[in-house]
Amino acid sequence: MDTYDILIVGGGMAGLGCARVLREKGATDFCLVTEHVGGRAPLTGHDALSSACYARSDYCHMQPFLSYGRRASIWKGRLITQEKKWRPSAIALRHPILFLSFVFHIWRFDRRYQRFMRRNEFMSQKESMEKDPELLKIYNQSASDFLHEHGLAPLGTVLISTLVRVTSFLSLEESSAFLMLWIWLILLRRARECTVDGEKITENLHFCITLDCVCSIKQKKDEWVVETTSGHTMAARRLVMATPITVTQKLLNISSPGRTDLNVFMAKVRGTAKKKYVDGRYNVFPMGCPDVSIIDGEDGTYELYSLRADFDLSHYFDDYCVLYTKSWEPAACLGKELHFSQKGNNLFIVGDCNFPCLEAAYVSGMQAAKALLERM
Ligand SMILES: Cc1cc2nc3c(=O)[nH]c(=O)nc-3n(C[C@H](O)[C@H](O)[C@H](O)COP(=O)(O)OP(=O)(O)OC[C@H]3O[C@@H](n4cnc5c(N)ncnc54)[C@H](O)[C@@H]3O)c2cc1C
Repeated sequence: MDTYDILIVGGGMAGLGCARVLREKGATDFCLVTEHVGGRAPLTGHDALSSACYARSDYCHMQPFLSYGRRASIWKGRLITQEKKWRPSAIALRHPILFLSFVFHIWRFDRRYQRFMRRNEFMSQKESMEKDPELLKIYNQSASDFLHEHGLAPLGTVLISTLVRVTSFLSLEESSAFLMLWIWLILLRRARECTVDGEKITENLHFCITLDCVCSIKQKKDEWVVETTSGHTMAARRLVMATPITVTQKLLNISSPGRTDLNVFMAKVRGTAKKKYVDGRYNVFPMGCPDVSIIDGEDGTYELYSLRADFDLSHYFDDYCVLYTKSWEPAACLGKELHFSQKGNNLFIVGDCNFPCLEAAYVSGMQAAKALLERM
């Protein structure tokens, strides 16, 4: 059995954020065990062609590891219903005062969100959120209730929901107001397609990374004992769980009622899209349709995102060949309860359990590392 001071389970942005800070501060007695390096983030070499992931200009900590592609544009989206193709700009122009009012709410949210993120470097997301009751209220409110409360409902169905659906796969009823405003921040803060430089982000970490799948975690006296599917057993005094929250809950036997996984499937194809789908970079289907969106790669390739694995590409393309398929199971974990990152002195739960964001996941890992180092 290998013994360490700290064991990190999960090597996505949260696990890597934690490992990088530990390494930078001189710690060496730790191990990061993960099924895949990078997790849901698009790492160079693996996902270089995928355009699903965007980084905003306020992703300060992730910035050194990112390479950027096309700029994201809300105005290039189209909502495709049976009857009609809707342009977001047409709705904004039809309700200019309401749209300006919505932009004002995004601006107010941005100020709160940036302060929340700065606090996150030193405290958990839950503690940071609780320091701002207005932000906490928005987190606990559904996006559709927020829009009704502020008289913005006429912008909801076509304009606001289109970006929420293409980004988070959720409806305005399912999304929190926090997530909706966070997604719409791209109106104020430039966002680009991105990939994460796998070499750079794992630099100096090769000594501590073990590729394996954890199947059991038990607490014995003052130690966490971790077993993997390849039969490896590791023990550590302190444990950082950086797996998707539903995996963490299963491994630690923690319950969280009402939390569900959202699985997403993608096919990257080269081909000729049917006429209806060629105008606009993001073609988004309304709620109720199991397929979510078709994103035009502008180089003869397209990505179809769907909530089902058995999608029918002939419905959208006259001719096509599938370059590759990909699935995220889970892509996101839905739940309303805010998670504390620290459970007792020797267990940290980090990652995107409160909202799906590369930067926030990375910062949650950094924060856990700082708290661990304080108690060395
Ligand atoms: C399709 C899609 C599009 C997205 N778009 C954006 C975007 O535009 N902008 C943005 O900021 N965010 C986006 N996100 C969200 C972002 O990717 C995630 O929030 C972030 O990557 C989460 O990082 P994490 O480290 O918390 O979790 P993960 O990346 O899931 O990392 C968890 C790690 O744990 C490992 N693991 C799981 N189970 C085990 C086990 N039993 N044993 C060992 N290891 C295990 C996995 O291999 C993985 O490496 C998107 C997500 C998806 C799915």
